[in-house]
Amino acid sequence: MSVYDKYEAVIGLECHIQLLTQTKMYSSDIAEYGGLPNSHVSVVTLGHPGTLPVANERTIEFAVKLGIAVNANIREENQFARKNYFYADLPKGYQITQDKTPICTGGFITAKLKDGKEKKINLTRIHVEEDAGKSLHDIDAFDTLIDLNRAGTPLLEIVTEPDFRSGEEAYAYLTEVRKLVRYLDICDGNMEEGSLRCDANISVMLKGSKTFGKKVEVKNMNSFRNVQRAIDFEIKRQIDVIEAGGEILGETRSFDAVNDLTFTLRSKENANDYRYFPEPDLQPVFVTQEYINSVKAQLPTLPDELFKTYTQTYKLSEYDALQIIEIKEVALYFNELISHTSNYKSAANWLIGNVRAYLNERAMNFSDFTLAPKKIAEIIALIDDEKISNAAASQRLFPALIEKPNKTAEQIATELDLLQNSDSGEIQKLIDEALSKFPEKITEYKNGKLGLLGLFVGEVMKLSKGKADPKLLNKLVKETLDK
Ligand code: ADP
Ligand code: MG
Repeated sequence: MSVYDKYEAVIGLECHIQLLTQTKMYSSDIAEYGGLPNSHVSVVTLGHPGTLPVANERTIEFAVKLGIAVNANIREENQFARKNYFYADLPKGYQITQDKTPICTGGFITAKLKDGKEKKINLTRIHVEEDAGKSLHDIDAFDTLIDLNRAGTPLLEIVTEPDFRSGEEAYAYLTEVRKLVRYLDICDGNMEEGSLRCDANISVMLKGSKTFGKKVEVKNMNSFRNVQRAIDFEIKRQIDVIEAGGEILGETRSFDAVNDLTFTLRSKENANDYRYFPEPDLQPVFVTQEYINSVKAQLPTLPDELFKTYTQTYKLSEYDALQIIEIKEVALYFNELISHTSNYKSAANWLIGNVRAYLNERAMNFSDFTLAPKKIAEIIALIDDEKISNAAASQRLFPALIEKPNKTAEQIATELDLLQNSDSGEIQKLIDEALSKFPEKITEYKNGKLGLLGLFVGEVMKLSKGKADPKLLNKLVKETLDK
């Protein structure tokens, strides 16, 4: 037994998601990512004396959407609070956030682990807050530059209970969070661009212990994989410290992806005093049950529900279902596709197989795929009616149909001469012609050399120029020989 097996890790995540609103949280400045530095910055964002914030209703709507989706309790009376601290990218000198009255409390997200098991992650709270600007340290050799475009853009912070026990669980949870916010259309979930950020709180304790160890907060991971790596590194580091007789200090550390380790940013022992107090320039926002119901009525079908329908009603494998649900556009496409065919398994195979391969080969995204779902259903029907072979359908008909989307699959198959012959009379003629060439082989076959069947079938296939329906052909050749 390794010394690491004596310990158990405890992890809680704090995620910030940047909301897809058009304007900022308390001003009409554009909230878009990018843009020339400091071009989306009004006096409200700068907090000039005399300016007043006006709450953006959409941020509340988005928080309510997420709250419903994760089964949280949604608060009726929402207060805003000022969190004060001094930093160059915080022009007002405070951030408007929610302190004692987060809009959502409780709820959970179910993470799907690699071994097929599920893990329920409980949520502590979700609150709305505004973002700070950005300090750019790597553009100028001597100075830090400030871009305030991001200052005042709306965020939701999602805080979990300390329910994770490994980096893998955290990874699986983040995958679920991203999927969910994309289905809800409230955040683009792009961690590389910073619209989804995550800090990890990590501690270790002896297995079976009832009290958690002291936690360390790790920041600056720019991908889900790096969150997992940072957690795995940190667990091992903390155990090493304890085993060497040391003590874990409450601190904030940063992840270094190049060297795969974490290092100290600042100590947490002397905690910050943010001097929270109620924001005097904003009224509380009331979220009524009626409002919650109206938001609920407009929610799309969510991934967990789709998963149930796909696996239970359409009998897809869990793997296939997850592959399709992974990207919202693919799931919407699938839903339309199966309104034109009842061969669900084949519909799933086409999306996961041929369509994905086609896009991968061309480095395209699913949103670039223009062929209508109905066309794939037409191809599936041709295969199911045994009018075309699987190989001809995927290798020739499918790409040709993408080029000429105005024709039906059958028209293109005819043009390309891909339709297979299922006319048993015609095939029988070819069989008689082929067999007449091999009188001795037929005797051998009848004497028990059954392996010769392939030779006969191959010969007829040649005569049909590859277009005889293979199943039918096999059956007819056997019947003819066994007569
Ligand atoms: P703080 O006051 O330092 O911000 P919180 O109690 O608000 O701490 O918790 C922040 C995050 O840390 C939450 O996600 C929580 O689940 C997690 N957390 C709390 N205690 C521990 C612990 N001992 N080990 C790991 N994570 C923890
Ligand atoms: Mg906290």
